[in-house]
Amino acid sequence: MRRLLILVLTGTLLLVSNLTAFAAKEAPQPIVQPEWTVERLAQENNLDAAALIKQLGIADTSAAHTATLQSLNISNEQAHEAIRKLLVLSTEEKSKNWKLILLKFALWWTVAIAAIMLLKREWVTQRRRTWMLAGAFIVFGILLGSDPSPMGTVKDAIALYGAERIIFPPRLVAFAIFTLLVIVGNKLICGWGCQLGTLQEWLHNVSPVREKVRLPFAVTNGIRITLFVAFTIVAFAIPLDLIGLFDPFKVFQPSHLTTVSVAFIAVLLVISLFFYRPWCTLACPFGLTGWLAEHVSWFRVRWNQANCINCGACRHVCPTGHTKHLLDGDKIKADCYSCAACLSVCPTKALHYGRRPS
Ligand code: SF4
Ligand code: SF4
Repeated sequence: MRRLLILVLTGTLLLVSNLTAFAAKEAPQPIVQPEWTVERLAQENNLDAAALIKQLGIADTSAAHTATLQSLNISNEQAHEAIRKLLVLSTEEKSKNWKLILLKFALWWTVAIAAIMLLKREWVTQRRRTWMLAGAFIVFGILLGSDPSPMGTVKDAIALYGAERIIFPPRLVAFAIFTLLVIVGNKLICGWGCQLGTLQEWLHNVSPVREKVRLPFAVTNGIRITLFVAFTIVAFAIPLDLIGLFDPFKVFQPSHLTTVSVAFIAVLLVISLFFYRPWCTLACPFGLTGWLAEHVSWFRVRWNQANCINCGACRHVCPTGHTKHLLDGDKIKADCYSCAACLSVCPTKALHYGRRPS
């Protein structure tokens, strides 16, 4: 009964969570007249003249500001394309709440550093972790919203480049920061900070379903790679942001939900009750790129074979199969979300979280 109440409360919180919804608007259409000067062209399109000159590929002299497109031998099409790119970038920039984004990144780093310390000291029991997961999705998702997210940095970058051949530099910076977090301490960002990841794992932990479903890593990763390739091809070929149609992160931005996304999210959250992090392990683009980066992580779960009595406890509790791969010495290992389940069950302390094998 208590678990049911918790689930109902979570659903209600998600529905009312719209505090930080920032609407992404469509970029306006460029306005171009061949007899306009570059200065006027920039003014009419609400752009910075210097940025437009740079985009047009001409030298930034005072004469260039007052020259017309005709006198510069720039065709309407060239000017249209340059202005369109700048308008898309400026619309992206205006759709972001930069103060909130900075706050979110500062909090993510704080949580990651705290998580490393707690994992190193083996303070994380499964009960405590469930509370921390709840705190993470409430703060990073319900209070601070769906954007930015680790998944969004990969998905939106591919979708924007596929459709417009435009790179939005702040997104690359965000992706680099998320990847750095993975390199520092395994998938700390996914395991402890991602709004959707923590929600899925929290549901998994409080689920009344006792018999959980597990699939071999080769299968889940195969599905994840196939979906990533399909998403990228569609983003370039059609172009269409396939994930955008049912983006589950929109659960934290209800004003952007559609019937399709509501249905998809409902199914995803129900699956989370008996399958560990379905979105992360089967579909998330950052789940895939982060998994690659995990192979060079500094802090991670380490195994001391000399202390191991081969009881199988860690293999049994690990939700991803990472400990099985670790103990079997496999080169390719499943994702590790630094959940600490294996650390807390090992009776001989053969597993620890750290930089070096003990
Ligand atoms: S893998 Fe999961 S936790 Fe990581 S970014 Fe994707 S949804 Fe979030
Ligand atoms: S149980 Fe698995 S996923 Fe969790 S910390 Fe251990 S190895 Fe990583």
